[in-house]
Amino acid sequence: MCKIITVANQKGGVSKTTSVRNLSYTLAELGYRVLAVDYDPQSNLTASLVLEDENEDVPKIHTTIANLMTMAMDEEKLPPKSEYVYRRGKFDFIPNDIHLSVVESNLRLEMGSEKLLFNILEPLCGDYDYILIDTNPSLGPLTINALSAADSVLITINPEFYATIGLQDLTKTILKIKRRINPKIEFEGILFTMCDMQTNLHKEVSAEVKEAYRGGMRVFKTSIPRSIRVGEANRCGMSIMEYDPKSKAGLAYMEFAKELSGYAG
Ligand code: ADP
Ligand code: MG
Repeated sequence: MCKIITVANQKGGVSKTTSVRNLSYTLAELGYRVLAVDYDPQSNLTASLVLEDENEDVPKIHTTIANLMTMAMDEEKLPPKSEYVYRRGKFDFIPNDIHLSVVESNLRLEMGSEKLLFNILEPLCGDYDYILIDTNPSLGPLTINALSAADSVLITINPEFYATIGLQDLTKTILKIKRRINPKIEFEGILFTMCDMQTNLHKEVSAEVKEAYRGGMRVFKTSIPRSIRVGEANRCGMSIMEYDPKSKAGLAYMEFAKELSGYAG
């Protein structure tokens, strides 16, 4: 059964895009059928997936999620999947471009628009085990669309003081969406990213978050360490596992894919 997971946090720079990029790669390595959807107007995920690579054919993009959303708002028939789903390595993706920010403005005026993204993704569910949606750092209409489409939400946080304040706003929004629009949405859990676990601040904040959400929300055992190798891999348009398979961050993303999927080997 397909699971649509939205990766969200209204804070920027907390590894949402990096986690979608690396989780897509590691889940696909484990044998799952994965579709990554870039739903952030900044399009960092798309940029990392279409960077020229001498070892691999990099797809040329024609149709993006921004185009599909515009068609959906105009109630036009969508093109066939082959025109907007692209492949990189072992997983598929739907790219994006800056026009998604125009879509965002239009969504504010559009009635009943919350389910438009779900309507685009639902027909694809039979082809995938996981659909991962990368979102923009806000709780605006695009994130609401992405949460309204999701079976679950994965929250990435960098364990420091301000992160936990934002977390309460995010969980409130998700619970509102659950009550008003998408009753099936569940919390997938919290993933700590960019961790410097040896520092006291990180130890204390992660212990506080675990305590605050004990019983209510899963906090993943795996956390992703801060590593310059992750930034380097992103810059080359590679997942950390491709760039440096033995790095701590690479191994952590593989461990995280197993924990999230319940992979039994
Ligand atoms: P978001 O999508 O939440 O805005 P990004 O995934 O774009 O966050 O990450 C923000 C920045 O942090 C990027 O420059 C990225 O390369 C870097 N980064 C992400 N994860 C790590 C990590 N584990 N260690 C070091 N740098 C990281
Ligand atoms: Mg991002």
